[in-house]
Amino acid sequence: MKYDVLTTDPAGMDTSLATAEDGTCSMTATQLLTDLGITHETDVPLAPMTWYGVGGKAQCLAKPADEAELAKLMQGCNEQGIPVRILGSGANLLVSDDGVDGVVVKLEHESFSQMSIEGTTVTVGAGYDLAKLVLDTARAGLAGLEVLAGIPASVGGAVRMNAGGKFGEIGPVVTKIRVMDHNGEIYERYRDDLVFKYRKSNIKAPIILDVEFDLSEDEPNQLMMQVKEIFMYKKNTQPLAEDSAGCAFKNPVKKDTDANPYLEQSAGKLIDMADLKGYIIGGASISERHANFIVAGEDCTATDIINLLDHVTHTVLEKFGVRLEREIIIWP
Ligand SMILES: Cc1cc2nc3c(=O)[nH]c(=O)nc-3n(C[C@H](O)[C@H](O)[C@H](O)COP(=O)(O)OP(=O)(O)OC[C@H]3O[C@@H](n4cnc5c(N)ncnc54)[C@H](O)[C@@H]3O)c2cc1C
Repeated sequence: MKYDVLTTDPAGMDTSLATAEDGTCSMTATQLLTDLGITHETDVPLAPMTWYGVGGKAQCLAKPADEAELAKLMQGCNEQGIPVRILGSGANLLVSDDGVDGVVVKLEHESFSQMSIEGTTVTVGAGYDLAKLVLDTARAGLAGLEVLAGIPASVGGAVRMNAGGKFGEIGPVVTKIRVMDHNGEIYERYRDDLVFKYRKSNIKAPIILDVEFDLSEDEPNQLMMQVKEIFMYKKNTQPLAEDSAGCAFKNPVKKDTDANPYLEQSAGKLIDMADLKGYIIGGASISERHANFIVAGEDCTATDIINLLDHVTHTVLEKFGVRLEREIIIWP
């Protein structure tokens, strides 16, 4: 088996998720996983696994027991043209009402949630809860992750999205990641290979397995104070108690050559200036507390949220000439 071969990927950054050339699967996902002896469930509602709490089902949900099983799954799905999607904490995700074909993988098994601290180096599995890691490291007197307080995520999802905000991002403290490609092969990527930008990175491999952080020594009580302060700031400015996927749109980035002054405004400010705060479509509405949060109310569907996202995009473009880019990821 190749999954235990650890090298640097000679082909550079990886490609997109697997689908057969004609877009069909020669074998169903459940047949394949049954043949491979991988435990899975079929027709699984994904809504309870996302922070939005809406959307359809996964054709197959697999929670592999370890990297060997995950590698078998990836290789088999690749060969059969079956799409694979990785679900973290579902905090940045909107699953469409029709759900998703193929296999959704959740790295929930404890083998993907190990954490170790050696000096200022912290190595942690992709399935580990980010909020817990923020507290673990602050209590251990290690600074660097306290800036992420209040951001719901798995470690894998946070690195994939370069999670962060006003106080800092995760990217600058990442020194190494291990990733798996579509063939189940594992590669290491070091700081020099990694580029983290606003809510994105150059990591294209489908699965982040674990992450190494280089933190710095600090006073635990001081760090815990910072965690609390940052959490309170978020609680006071964002609708954390309501169902959402965080900020719906990325803030515009103004280049020197751009003449449009509205590009200097945040996405939330532009949505607010367009008088869209409180705007409702079906069960979805724009938060009164923070205009860049689209929240799901009672009987909300994924389609309501998608329609509201489209309405905001069109309105802001029409009023200010700014094309907002979505931060929320929509499946499929
Ligand atoms: C109330 C609230 C507040 C938020 N505030 C912030 C904020 O301040 N700053 C911020 O940046 N974000 C914020 N978010 C968004 C969200 O917390 C982040 O985007 C987070 O990084 C998502 O992580 P996740 O594990 O939930 O990923 P998911 O939502 O499950 O997935 C997001 C993407 O990451 C991929 N992914 C997940 N795990 C892996 C893995 N192991 N390997 C490869 N790819 C993977 C998924 O396939 C998907 O493409 C907020 C969300 C909510 C609900």
